[in-house]
Amino acid sequence: MAANKLRRRLPHSEWAITIVDQDSEHHYQPGYLLIPFGVYDPSTVVKPSKRFLPRGVNTIIGEIDLVEPDMNRVRTAHGTYLQYDELVIATGVSPRPDQTPGMVGSEWRNTVFDFYTKEGATALADKLRTWDGGRLVVHISEMPIKCPVAPLEFAFLADSFFEERGMRDRVEMTYVTPLDGAFTKPVASKRLGAMLDERKIKLESDFYVESIDNEKKALVSFDEREVPFDLLVTVPVNMGADFIGRSGLGNELNCVPVDNGTFQSTSWDNIFALGDAADIPTSKAGSVAHFAIELFTENFIQHINGDEMTHIFDGHANCFVESGDGKAMLIDFNYDTQPLPGKYPVPRLGPMSLMKETRLNHYGKLMFKWIYWHALLPGRRLPMPALMSMAGKEVVEE
Ligand SMILES: Cc1cc2nc3c(=O)[nH]c(=O)nc-3n(C[C@H](O)[C@H](O)[C@H](O)COP(=O)(O)OP(=O)(O)OC[C@H]3O[C@@H](n4cnc5c(N)ncnc54)[C@H](O)[C@@H]3O)c2cc1C
Repeated sequence: MAANKLRRRLPHSEWAITIVDQDSEHHYQPGYLLIPFGVYDPSTVVKPSKRFLPRGVNTIIGEIDLVEPDMNRVRTAHGTYLQYDELVIATGVSPRPDQTPGMVGSEWRNTVFDFYTKEGATALADKLRTWDGGRLVVHISEMPIKCPVAPLEFAFLADSFFEERGMRDRVEMTYVTPLDGAFTKPVASKRLGAMLDERKIKLESDFYVESIDNEKKALVSFDEREVPFDLLVTVPVNMGADFIGRSGLGNELNCVPVDNGTFQSTSWDNIFALGDAADIPTSKAGSVAHFAIELFTENFIQHINGDEMTHIFDGHANCFVESGDGKAMLIDFNYDTQPLPGKYPVPRLGPMSLMKETRLNHYGKLMFKWIYWHALLPGRRLPMPALMSMAGKEVVEE
């Protein structure tokens, strides 16, 4: 998206743009959620990246090994050096099951699964096809994770999936989280917590996982609580790329500290971090990357012209939350305003409802896949303001 937008704005005679990506395919990651339940076939969430890149951009398929910010250069794993005037880091975050003792043990992909990778979601789909019930534990290892509502959505969809198969009474479900409630923000946390209750999904909060005991088949916390499982669906620790740590550019989770409004590195003026790779206090979500890049493009032009960057991001995020039974909720928030009820994107008219489970929101979520491939990645402008608006929102007591 950034490459598409910048290529249109930067004169070819003055600016060369090079993209380095270790993967020649692009994944629509929100689609991973629907693979385990057989709604999406894994092949439908992957397309060749080159289809979305504009002409006039050099592409290198290869891993970035190191950035040397004082020398303004990037080294690839093949040992090639790429000199830059400006560097944009957008290498995301990945699930790291290796960070929790016992996660990649004898039970991995046997009774312990993740759905944050295409392989994990596909293996889980195979498991769920024949699983005949027991204790299902849905688990978040550590915050922040990308799309923090995705594990809740997984729990709601699983409830609906087992209900449809006539086996819900044979499944005991527990939602285990390091948070003190179902979600990070108070009003949404209360609503989402009530939705877990309504579906008879037990909430185990403030749970900091120390290890997974493969023999006992139990999650073990630092405060010595144990949650036994027959099937564990976990979201492993999410971390930025290792080269970020190696290059001295990141925090303890290899995300890049940046100015929250402009995405400029707090240490180097000619480095920016976009999307999940940036350490900013809002959700790691595609919607955030989308809104942020609208503003980043304008800021970047000001920056290279030596002007002050004036398009300040507010942390705007919005997410459809699948709630099962063909319905979904929509939440819209930013750094300062938590998700509130109301209508979106047009005040009073919607047509989407905020913080309410509706069929239209569910269709919105399904339609998003098309919008992602055909409008977002090519960098087309969508009729949604980049900054969050209070119009159409109802202020409620916590
Ligand atoms: C299950 C799930 C559900 C989700 N649902 C939603 C949702 O409903 N709504 C929403 O807004 N968001 C959702 N998200 C989050 C969304 O997918 C991410 O926030 C978004 O993809 C982040 O984009 P990005 O460009 O920052 O990183 P990514 O899309 O992860 O891209 C990172 C790129 O960097 C490359 N890369 C990484 N390391 C290196 C390296 N060392 N060298 C070279 N290349 C490298 C990778 O190959 C990749 O192409 C979901 C995510 C998951 C996993």
